Amino acid sequence: MDMIANIDRQLRDLDERSLTRRRRTVDTPCAPRLVIEGRPMLAFCSNDYLGLAAHPAVVAALREGADIYGAGSGASHLISGHSRAHVRLEDRLAEFESPHLDNARALSFCTGYMANLAILTALGADAGAEIFSEQLNHASLIDGARLARAQVKLYPHADAAALASLLDASTAQTKIVVTDSVFSMDGDLAPLPELLAACERHGAWLVIDDAHGFGTLGAHGRGALEHFGLRSPNIVYMGTLGKAAGVGGAFVAAHASVIELMIQRARPYIYTTAAPPALAHALLASLDIIGGEEGASRRAHLQALIAQFRDGLRLQRWQLPASATAIQPIIIGANDEALRVGAGLYGQGLWVPAIRPPTVPAGTARLRVTLSAAHTHEDVSQLVAALNQLERT
Ligand SMILES: *Cc1c(COP(=O)(O)O)cnc(C)c1O
Repeated sequence: MDMIANIDRQLRDLDERSLTRRRRTVDTPCAPRLVIEGRPMLAFCSNDYLGLAAHPAVVAALREGADIYGAGSGASHLISGHSRAHVRLEDRLAEFESPHLDNARALSFCTGYMANLAILTALGADAGAEIFSEQLNHASLIDGARLARAQVKLYPHADAAALASLLDASTAQTKIVVTDSVFSMDGDLAPLPELLAACERHGAWLVIDDAHGFGTLGAHGRGALEHFGLRSPNIVYMGTLGKAAGVGGAFVAAHASVIELMIQRARPYIYTTAAPPALAHALLASLDIIGGEEGASRRAHLQALIAQFRDGLRLQRWQLPASATAIQPIIIGANDEALRVGAGLYGQGLWVPAIRPPTVPAGTARLRVTLSAAHTHEDVSQLVAALNQLERT
């Protein structure tokens, strides 16, 4: 029983530092209006930025996909799990990102976490590879760099000049720069044009994790590359399909040779069962929406909600950092105060997650508000009023 006592001690220690995490059970589809444990709530938590997770056309396509392909894929992609639905999805994604990549090909994954492990282990397996990782990168990129067992150098947040000096000083044969495009806990954008220029000068790969940009950025929703108007053979692009695309999974788009190397060498691709083909089939419907007129009008509505949120807040003690994306953090500071404010909102029927270390740096506990095209202006007014009032109490 010493072993259990040891674990209980660790759990108590988390609790004493206000770091215990808990899950809430949602009884209804992903939408702003939810029922949680029997209670109706208005939520500002999900990454369903375009409101596609419960979109009737996407749900109908998922059902149709199950009718055509069944429930499961049955095997990994390299055995018998690679279905016609996956091929269609990969072809569509490659075409979608092709304005921004040379000889584009795409590879689908079960999750973005695995896609990031796959990119960094495949590219970083080269003897003497060096990975240059942005300080605020997502946990999956940090873990991917560790798994690649390459040398890792951190560069400061959004600092392209610091990156350039690190690249200058490097003698590594394979240089891999890796960054989030939209920072998941801050909502700001990486200076991708400057980072890419440094990568091109130094013959380095630029791995871009566009988990929060794919579907939401760019006139056609193609993401960060479209937003900044970038095109380069140095880019390895990762987009997730469980956030704005509303379903699940992820993809990597890059030069065909990079993709072929991942198929041959990336263990997180090779040694796992392919995602259910019905998901790929549903994603084709969601890509139709993202790239079409409905996607454009959903993005415009989302931008109007973001402006309304920022204009309405009257904060004195807390901070609202610059962010033009659907991720709007309110920095509170102390873990216990962030929890208290989160609980205060919850008591008013508003669900906003409090994010604490180690997800964010110590002393920067925050409320992470995410907006979605499925929200209304009334929803945002209600949240803004509650936040303005809670800050004064
Ligand atoms: C969500 C997220 C991932 C992981 O994607 P999943 O499909 O949820 O595994 C990777 N990178 C960033 C920046 C993310 O926000």
